[in-house]
Amino acid sequence: MNIYNTLTRKIENFKPLNHPKVTLYTCGPTVYDFTHIGHLRTFTNNDILKRTLNYLGYQVKHVMNITDVGHLTGDDDTGEDKLEKGAKKTGKSVWEVAKFYTDFFIQSINDLNIIKPEILCKATDHIKEIIQLIQILEKKGYTYETKEAVYFDVSKFKNYGKLSRQPLSQKIQAARGEVYIDPEKKHPADFALWFKRVGRFANHTMHWDSPWEDGFPGWHIECSAMSMKYLGETIDIHAGGVDHIPVHHENEIAQSEVASNKPFVKYWFHNNFVTVEGKKMSKSLGNFYTIEDIKKKGYKPEALRLLFLQSHYRQILNFTWDSLNAAQEAYNKLKEYILILRKQNDMISFTQDKSNQIVNYREKFIQALTEDLKTPQAMAVVWQMLKSNIPSANKIDLLFEFDQVLGLQLDRTRDEEIPKDIIRLAQEREKARKEKDFKKADEIRKKIKELGYLIEDTPVSYRLKKASQQKII
Ligand SMILES: [Zn+2]
Repeated sequence: MNIYNTLTRKIENFKPLNHPKVTLYTCGPTVYDFTHIGHLRTFTNNDILKRTLNYLGYQVKHVMNITDVGHLTGDDDTGEDKLEKGAKKTGKSVWEVAKFYTDFFIQSINDLNIIKPEILCKATDHIKEIIQLIQILEKKGYTYETKEAVYFDVSKFKNYGKLSRQPLSQKIQAARGEVYIDPEKKHPADFALWFKRVGRFANHTMHWDSPWEDGFPGWHIECSAMSMKYLGETIDIHAGGVDHIPVHHENEIAQSEVASNKPFVKYWFHNNFVTVEGKKMSKSLGNFYTIEDIKKKGYKPEALRLLFLQSHYRQILNFTWDSLNAAQEAYNKLKEYILILRKQNDMISFTQDKSNQIVNYREKFIQALTEDLKTPQAMAVVWQMLKSNIPSANKIDLLFEFDQVLGLQLDRTRDEEIPKDIIRLAQEREKARKEKDFKKADEIRKKIKELGYLIEDTPVSYRLKKASQQKII
C-alpha cells in the first residue's frame, strides 16, 4: 500500500508499526451543528482507507473523538465555545445540544454505510486523562499559566510548524482583528490547554476541578489524550480535513511529542474540501447541505457515497445537484446490472482466458487503491469488468468482493415489487414476441408504459422496472 503523507509531502510505502495491526485516529465532529457533506466526504474517504486496509489483510483499530467541549469559534482560541454558543441560540442545555448533534452525526455516517469506529470517544468523558497530560507538559516546562488559562509555549518546541511548513513568524498574523486575546499570552500561536472559569468564561456551563482552578480543556489536547489512551504513543495513521493542518494538527504534534518523546504519527492522511457550485459551503450562502437534504430531494445516500468515490480524496470536490443526479443514475445502473446478471446462466462459457481476466480485474482494482487510494480509477475497473465477457456469476462475485471496499451495499439489491397485472401483461407480450406477433407485443409494451412501467428486453428474457420519476429538483 502506498499512501500520501502530508508530513513528508510524498507518496510513501505504508509500513505499520505492528504489522498486521494498524492504528488509525480520526478527528471527529464538534457537535454544535449539523454534520454536512464536507464532513461526510472526509469520513467516507477515511472509511474507504480503512476498508482497503482490511481488504488487504490488515487489522485496523479506529478511534474517533467527539468534541463536546472547548472548541472555540476560532481554532486559535479566539471567540466563544461553539457548544455554549449553540446552546444559547437554541435555548437548550449544552448537554442536550451535544447529544442532539452527536445523534445526527451517527445517523449520517450510518446512512452512508461508514463503518463505525471501534472506539468513538467524547472529550467530556476524558477530563482525567486530559488533566494528566497537561500535568506532564507542565512538569517538562512547556506550559505557562496566566490569570485566564494554561498555555502550551510553542517557542519551546523546536519542531513547531513541521506539518504545515509554516515558520512561527508567519503564525503571528494568525490572531488579529476584533477577537479577544489574553493580554498575558506570550505568542499568538501558543494555545490553551486549560481555560479557567473566569473573565469571558466566568459563566461557562461545563467545568471541572483541576490543579489550575475550575475550568474546561482547550480543544487540541483531547485528541492527544484520547489517541494515546486507546492507540499508544505513536499511531500509524492520523486522519482529518486539510483545514486542520496549520493549527489543530500542529498543536497535536507539539503536545504529544513533548509528552512522549516519540513521534506522534507515522502517516498524516488529509482530505480536501467540498465546494458547492464552485463556492465555499456556508450557512449564509444557503449551500450547507446535510444527508437529510440529500434524502429529501429523493436521492439515496449511496449515490452521494458513489459521488465521493468518483473524485480523489486530495482534490477539491465541487458538489452540484447535476453531479449527484449523475451519480444516482450510475448507482441505479450498477443495481440494474446485478438484476440482469442474476438472471443469466452462462457459466458454460467459462474459459482459461476468462479466468485470467478475473485475476486481472482484481489486480487492477487493488492497484488503483494501493496507489494512494485512487477511487476514480477503482470505479473505472468496476465498469470495465461489468462490460467484459466474463461469466455473469463471476461478475457478481467480483462486484460484491469489490464492494467490501466501496461500501455501496450492492448485495442488498432486490427486484422491485411489480404489480401482478403488469407481470401478466409482460408475460403476454413475451408470448406474442415468441410467436413473432410484433405488432401485438408493441401494443402491450405501450400499455405497460401507460401504467407507469418500462419493459426492457435482455439477451435471455425481459426486465420490468418502474418508469423513473421526474427529477425532484
Ligand atoms: Zn483532533
